[in-house]
Amino acid sequence: MDARHIETRLDRFAKEGGIVPLRPFYIWGEFRIEWNGESLYSDEAHEYCETCADALLAKLLPLLPEDQREDHRVSATELHHEDTSKNCMICGALLDYALNECGVASELDHYRAYPPAGKLHPGDAFHIARMLEAAPANRAVLRLGKAAIQHLPQHDGALATA
Ligand SMILES: [Zn+2]
Repeated sequence: MDARHIETRLDRFAKEGGIVPLRPFYIWGEFRIEWNGESLYSDEAHEYCETCADALLAKLLPLLPEDQREDHRVSATELHHEDTSKNCMICGALLDYALNECGVASELDHYRAYPPAGKLHPGDAFHIARMLEAAPANRAVLRLGKAAIQHLPQHDGALATA
């Protein structure tokens, strides 16, 4: 099996296991406002699921002078290549991401310390699929992908060797 096939199988398993990454959103412009003992803060590097971004903006807008309200808006983030997997900064929901080279290296470190064992978790399947997507020719990534396939529940030997 090549990297693409392994990636597809891991992604399918992740999806069946309920892993549905959300589209990342950010809010235009930086702001920091203290309000009711709560600190409302965001800059454009902060990423959220759409629900949390909308809720944060809705809380912020009435607190701003009218002429500053136009400066802040919720927008979808372009997919950049990241050092790490991404979660909503407010609710922690998994966000869609693509890894860069550093990101692949740090995920490899993680899985060297915690190699697939027992039944593969759908979340790990998703993260390993992102590594294969970013570095399909990397041997260590390919080895990890193959190991992950061996740990799919109800593993079908015939499929794995195909
Ligand atoms: Zn959220």
